[in-house]
Amino acid sequence: MKSITLLGATGSIGLRTLDLVSSFPEEFSVAGLAARGSNVERVADLCKKYSPRVVALLEADALDQLARLLPAPRPELLAGPEGLVALARDVKADIVVSALVGGAGLLPTMAAIQAGRTVALANKETLVMAGRLMTAAARARGVKLLPVDSEHSAIFQCLQGHNRSEVRRILLTASGGPFRTMKAQDLAQVTVAEALNHPTWRMGAKITVDSATLMNKGLEVIEARWLFDVAAEQVQVVVHPQSVIHSMVEYVDGSVIAQLGVPDMGIPILYALTYPRRLPCPADRLDLTRVGALTFEEPDVERLPCLALARRALLEGGCAPVILNAANEVAVAAFLDGRIRFTQIPELIAEALARVPARALDGIDTCVDVDTRTRALVREWLPGGVTAAAK
Ligand code: NAD
Ligand code: MG
Repeated sequence: MKSITLLGATGSIGLRTLDLVSSFPEEFSVAGLAARGSNVERVADLCKKYSPRVVALLEADALDQLARLLPAPRPELLAGPEGLVALARDVKADIVVSALVGGAGLLPTMAAIQAGRTVALANKETLVMAGRLMTAAARARGVKLLPVDSEHSAIFQCLQGHNRSEVRRILLTASGGPFRTMKAQDLAQVTVAEALNHPTWRMGAKITVDSATLMNKGLEVIEARWLFDVAAEQVQVVVHPQSVIHSMVEYVDGSVIAQLGVPDMGIPILYALTYPRRLPCPADRLDLTRVGALTFEEPDVERLPCLALARRALLEGGCAPVILNAANEVAVAAFLDGRIRFTQIPELIAEALARVPARALDGIDTCVDVDTRTRALVREWLPGGVTAAAK
């Protein structure tokens, strides 16, 4: 029986993880849960169903509401970003599933690694920000970082039983998002609803917009660089609209090994939870005769420049990926709030990369500092400036 601490319990990845806990009651139990307090009733339901020992919510006032909704004996309740860190660090668990969205996951995920806990990582933004520090900390503590992202789970599976030194390159597949075939001049007019209408995956709002801008693939190139210790040039992005091949590894002899499956995050989540074993995942099965053709094309980085911006930040190194990520988070939130156009997302990121001073990534404190400064600066550039953003 594996005990799980789940950071981001009420999200798309969090709820799918809990479905799997329900499907395999002999295999998994829940030690701790963390989420925002925006849906306290849902957190209360999850507590009743999964009986975690400890729960951490971002907002302290939501904790009082949660306490009122839960009969005794209650789980221990923690609040604030420090509460999330304490949950990841102090609650005994075999595996910490890191599924918060965005930079908010950085400190709790680092805390789990430093406490020596195996991490199943969905929260790619943390690796984008601090990949070098996180992978170094994981090596120092002998901690496994197991990928949950479907592409990285695919790559990880294609690497099993092979020599890392014989890898020539990684072929990272991308669905291309909802605007794959849209003309450049129409992109400025796309609505939030159109951006949230992903052709193959159902996910949280932020990653769905990232998929539409192709920033998600940019973040994933950086994620692959750190998880698999490959150079940026060794990661080729291939647009594959059917989302059947989740990624591939090419070896020096010319063999290309792929992992395929239906687009259901249950499969990579379960593999991270059971690695190196496999369990029969309650998901649809792939029927290739019904899928028909599998097609591949180059990503259009002229029309959707975020992928190129991410590569540029990775090559620049230091804190450039922190700036990229922070600017993207602020820009995506502003787009979702209807404050900027879709095409302003890459514009704001390019501006941030050009104007926020470059710094070496010499520690987590620097990372947090550059992240905070970039967010503040990009908020000032939004229409209406900081005051409107704070409303
Ligand atoms: P989501 O928005 O559906 O869920 C995010 C979760 O994090 C929620 O439980 C929310 O309450 C919590 N949260 C957000 N900010 C928080 C904060 N500051 N403090 C405490 N809790 C906070 O997001 P998601 O789609 O589940 O994605 C989670 C992560 O997994 C992201 O990094 C995403 O890129 C990655 N990922 C998601 C998918 C997917 O299919 N959804 C696939 C691959 C990777
Ligand atoms: Mg992915």
